[in-house]
Amino acid sequence: MAKDKGASERPVVGVDLGGTKVLAGVVSPTNEILATAKRATKAEAGVDAVVERLVKTVRDAVSAAGLELDKIEAVCSAAPGPLDPEAGVVRNAPNLPGWENVPFAHLVSEGLGGLPVFIENDVNLGTLGEFVLGAGRGYRNIGIHGSAGEIGHTVVLADGPVCGCGNRGCLEAVASRTAIERDIWLGIKAGRESSIREILKRDKRERLTSGVLAEAYSAHDPLVAEVIGRVQFYLGLCVANVINLIDPELVILGGGVVEALDEGFLEPIRRTAYQYTLNKLDARNIDIVPAKLGDDSVLLGAAVNARWRLAER
Ligand SMILES: [Zn+2]
Repeated sequence: MAKDKGASERPVVGVDLGGTKVLAGVVSPTNEILATAKRATKAEAGVDAVVERLVKTVRDAVSAAGLELDKIEAVCSAAPGPLDPEAGVVRNAPNLPGWENVPFAHLVSEGLGGLPVFIENDVNLGTLGEFVLGAGRGYRNIGIHGSAGEIGHTVVLADGPVCGCGNRGCLEAVASRTAIERDIWLGIKAGRESSIREILKRDKRERLTSGVLAEAYSAHDPLVAEVIGRVQFYLGLCVANVINLIDPELVILGGGVVEALDEGFLEPIRRTAYQYTLNKLDARNIDIVPAKLGDDSVLLGAAVNARWRLAER
């Protein structure tokens, strides 16, 4: 079926499926986000319930764009874990209980009246989104993005805290926002000096949002500085490992913490990364920069991927 022209004329839907939320976006042929919709994943409810919520979220986004499903060319969904993009099967997903060899693409397509549905790993899609439309524009090859997915489960501290995947000392268990919150609360409970409680009380908040972290960090809160310092060290090590392994032109770091803390957060990561890079002469030519697309990187990457996959048909 010759579709090379028609394939790029209608919008596609990109979906970011994570352990806590599903975000769907209708994306125009020129990569503009026309509308989005969001839902809690409710991962504990199991595969069928999550797929149903995802399908509803796609339908909501399409309605919000003022369209009908039959005006959509294809859907591409991210999934958090190893998967087979050709077969459309999710092998497993550490943050989604019960996901083992799930025919994800088929199930979603069934819920959407048989629309073509592609799937791809979320880290790959976030990277693709940033590479094509965000911080990676103009570069030929790039390194890592975010601290989710497989890179998040590289072991950086062999005897470290237990990770959601069951191993110990994964990057995610040591340097994710969950790890930051855990360590700050542990510090507070142990009586360490910190302004966190006062900030939360003032703002009538209970959760340690990225904004609260950023305020305490820039005020040199001793506990927050220590916890964030540790995170920066391990992220720096991980970036150095990636540089030593694949020699990229650019490394993009994404996520809410990077966004909120920005340059003040990145500089110590760069220092550690350059310090642990073997090829010191060339290391400084590798740019380590913040992501640009924020929460939209995965869904935009999914939209780009959907068009690529359609063009291959
Ligand atoms: Zn892990």
